[in-house]
Amino acid sequence: MRLILLGPPGAGKGTQATRLMQKYNIPQLSTGDMLRAAVAAATEIGLKAKTVMEAGQLVSDEIVVGIIDARIHEPDAKNGFILDGFPRTVAQAEALDHMLARYDLPLDAVIELGVDEKALITRMAKRVADTLAAGGTVRADDNPEAFKTRLDAYRAQTAPVSDYYRRRGQLKTIDGMAPIDEVAREIERVLVPA
Ligand code: AMP
Repeated sequence: MRLILLGPPGAGKGTQATRLMQKYNIPQLSTGDMLRAAVAAATEIGLKAKTVMEAGQLVSDEIVVGIIDARIHEPDAKNGFILDGFPRTVAQAEALDHMLARYDLPLDAVIELGVDEKALITRMAKRVADTLAAGGTVRADDNPEAFKTRLDAYRAQTAPVSDYYRRRGQLKTIDGMAPIDEVAREIERVLVPA
């Protein structure tokens, strides 16, 4: 099972990816997680990505395409994978198409979690406030300003990715504002049509 989950930051892609990962025994490949790990480990990629990420902007296509190209060949991805947070630009989607064609690994589905941006901003602010009130820590880019920049980046650069897959007849859009279980059921319906 090879899937792409599309949707703006905070849409619940990570939550749904975790469920799918358990169900199909495939890894969730989140470029955001991989980049954060690279930043934490202060690798060459991490050093390049750090400031860009903290500002909520996009890391270069070349870096993320290289990360994914390497990652899909790891043994745990032999049954497939869920791409979360990638592709984020049309150039990345094209590079992914070429890559998957080269390795003969066709996609099974591209699922988009549709959201209401205003509600998303409220939801994100509440999540951060709750986490801080409970004594927890939040990501450096989980502040209202960077979150808005991430939403803007999504609208400008990633929404065209949806169109790219829509034109190819591969895109399935699901209501991402529905309760988590309902979103999960809708995804299942897309993956295993009755
Ligand atoms: P995420 O956890 O998916 O929200 O990603 C966090 C940050 O990592 C983003 O705001 C970008 O700076 C960077 N990032 C993650 N995935 C990509 C990607 N596919 N292309 C460019 N930048 C990315």
